[in-house]
Amino acid sequence: MLAYTYVRQGEFALQRKPTPVLEQKRDAIVRVTLSSICTSDLHIKHGSVPRAVPGITVGHEMVGVVEEVGSEITALCPGDRVVVNVETFCGQCFFCRHGWVNNCTDPNGGWALGCRIDGGQAEYVRVPYADQGLTKIPDNVTDLQALLVGDVLATGYWAAKISEIQPQDTVLILGAGPTGLCTLQCVRLHNPHCIIVCDRDVERLAFVRRHDSGVIAVLPEELLAAIRQYSAHGGADAVLEVAGSPDTFRMAWESARPNGIVTIVALYDGPQVLPLPEMYGKNLTFKTGGVDGCHCQETLLLIAEGKLDPTPLITHQFPLSEIERAYALFEARQDGVIKVAIRCS
Ligand SMILES: [Zn+2]
Ligand SMILES: [Zn+2]
Repeated sequence: MLAYTYVRQGEFALQRKPTPVLEQKRDAIVRVTLSSICTSDLHIKHGSVPRAVPGITVGHEMVGVVEEVGSEITALCPGDRVVVNVETFCGQCFFCRHGWVNNCTDPNGGWALGCRIDGGQAEYVRVPYADQGLTKIPDNVTDLQALLVGDVLATGYWAAKISEIQPQDTVLILGAGPTGLCTLQCVRLHNPHCIIVCDRDVERLAFVRRHDSGVIAVLPEELLAAIRQYSAHGGADAVLEVAGSPDTFRMAWESARPNGIVTIVALYDGPQVLPLPEMYGKNLTFKTGGVDGCHCQETLLLIAEGKLDPTPLITHQFPLSEIERAYALFEARQDGVIKVAIRCS
């Protein structure tokens, strides 16, 4: 089969590999229909994910059809249309039992697919703990609608959930990339009084205004004025930092009101500075990533009910044979790209 492979730092290539086979009793083999490219794939390419193993097939956000299941899988059958979760988790350890699946203690726990084991920018993928890592897609939800459920939408859903958003709140989202936009959709499920989205990319702000007319979309230099205008207590009640730069880290805590919640969703390239003397007395609560991606069933139902719709985010599609072109476009942020779907089979 064809599999897009992390060869070495700076180099991915489409290679021929054997089709994966069942290795464990809780494995499933999934024929990938759609896979997407994530910013984390670029992080692997550029060597900023030291855990990533050269030679693995990349791709950790995909949907497909179950081809084969191991002997201990009871709830899935060949032919089921499924979303694959970015995280591998056993469902049984202390952390899994608390819903903190990102910290599953299994050796393959957490982000393994497309990082430490073969992922899904390929025709087939082997999914360990498939009874946890695969979720059936409702009949009235398309593959395209479900494509982001296992990773960026899971992240947005988790971030909104842990930010303790109340109806009277002003919520600030820093970053309007794919994860920021998914976070925006999920924050809206909590019906806060006001949502402000901040990004330095005017095209992305225009996208926000087109799809969410009630949202205040501002540039970083407009943020302070917007915060003053739209929050009743000197700052946002909840700030969700999805952008991941030193500037946005600072903006996040500066924009929060005293006793507010700052949820750090972003993955940074390096350490950030917490200037505690400056924030003394602000009594903030920080919550930090990464995603506990175990709410796929709930988000698929919300898509089925029309309350979430990530499809406008998928701006481009390519066949697997043209994945190089897809990466080039995604990496250079050409043509208004937000997310790219790769048709794998
Ligand atoms: Zn990702
Ligand atoms: Zn576990």
